[in-house]
Amino acid sequence: MFQKILIANRGEIALRVLRACKELGIQTVVVHSTADADAMHVRLADESVCIGPPPSRDSYLNIHQIVAACEITGADAVHPGYGFLSENAKFADILVAHNITFIGPSGDHIRIMGDKIEAKRTAKRLGIPVVPGSDGAVTDEKEAKRIAAEIGYPVIIKASAGGGGRGMKVALTEADLEIALQTARSEAGAAFGDDAVYIEKYLQKPRHIEVQVFGDGFGRGVHFGERDCSLQRRHQKVWEEANSPALNAEERSRIGGICAKAIADLGYSGAGTIEFLYENGEFYFIEMNTRLQVEHPVTEAITGIDLVHEQIRVASGGGLSVRQEDIKFNGHAIECRINAEDPRTFTPSPGTITHFHTPGGLGIRVDSGVYSGYKIPPYYDSLIGKLIVHGRNRVECMMRLRRALDEFVVDGIKTTLPLFRDLVGNADIANGDYDIHWLEKYLAKEE
Ligand code: ADP
Repeated sequence: MFQKILIANRGEIALRVLRACKELGIQTVVVHSTADADAMHVRLADESVCIGPPPSRDSYLNIHQIVAACEITGADAVHPGYGFLSENAKFADILVAHNITFIGPSGDHIRIMGDKIEAKRTAKRLGIPVVPGSDGAVTDEKEAKRIAAEIGYPVIIKASAGGGGRGMKVALTEADLEIALQTARSEAGAAFGDDAVYIEKYLQKPRHIEVQVFGDGFGRGVHFGERDCSLQRRHQKVWEEANSPALNAEERSRIGGICAKAIADLGYSGAGTIEFLYENGEFYFIEMNTRLQVEHPVTEAITGIDLVHEQIRVASGGGLSVRQEDIKFNGHAIECRINAEDPRTFTPSPGTITHFHTPGGLGIRVDSGVYSGYKIPPYYDSLIGKLIVHGRNRVECMMRLRRALDEFVVDGIKTTLPLFRDLVGNADIANGDYDIHWLEKYLAKEE
């Protein structure tokens, strides 16, 4: 087992990883920018190293500084959290070259899944159902038209290097295709330095359902069920649940089994998420994330298994603590992402939190790095906390969520808490009856 883990992240996820390390009796080092000197994870860590000024590229994305911090402190492993360097293959490779363990999959697996065209090809080869579309990158308009005609409109043009919902354009008819192709390519080039794009069928009313998988490092794969992340705004997840209200146990074990087998065949090691769109009973692979996800706590709630513990175990060569047959799904869990944003316009609302009070009681978990008097720096994403609620079934979970949202107090800044208070009282949400467009339509109506 590791002696000392360096946590290369900030905010709630840095604290989340720190807690797992403490439980496992592992020493912790955190790195932080000058803007985060007062952060909770910095206060609670055994050691901390300031690695640079506020902008991420000079601090949390600065590989050189992070490796230096490992060497100075003698850390033998790095947990990257999510975002920042968590899906940076070069970072994983550099750590290995320095004899430091990257708590995550191999650089090669990160590379394959980071290139969405390559990822889709790999998924298909591994027997995972994919969205019908082009086999690889599409460059000329003629080819694009041919493929689109074959799969049928509407189609979506997506950037191979895309992420965070950027670099996607929908073409409803052939007349839109040329302009969609051009804009997608130029946006992808500008945003990612890679203008490769591909085409796939645009699904009209799908749900976003993702499967949590793990490779144990010895060639075995397991799944931890699915999460439904259909409630999105601008392709960003807002509310996540496990299990999905749309799946039954048979569908769950079928898609879970396909994913677990794929992970084993790939020889993948560590945590991963295979993301699908789900429509009319069919799953369509869209991408795989080779890291821990923001929404992992809903899976922890229904399985009772600490996924960060498992990540650390696998990375240290100790394998998983559970086999597939040990993983049981109990009850229902929902996560609300609480952002420091105006709940109507979603513009960021940094500033000082004058008062912070979190709900408690049975089935309530709050993952947050903020506290009363904390000043939210304007440099990073606006997630300030996650409320995760568990109940024996979805009805109980919703009742508990409503109560927890009422108890939650964040003063001094604007947050998205009021949005969740509205959602929890909505009939469609109560019925689990929503697709990936539901939230956008709801917000447009509210305006
Ligand atoms: P990113 O890596 O940028 O998050 P994804 O491929 O995961 O991109 O897609 C993000 C979101 O975009 C999905 O959750 C879904 O809302 C929408 N989307 C992607 N592909 C399609 C598609 N083929 N049809 C309909 N919606 C899609």
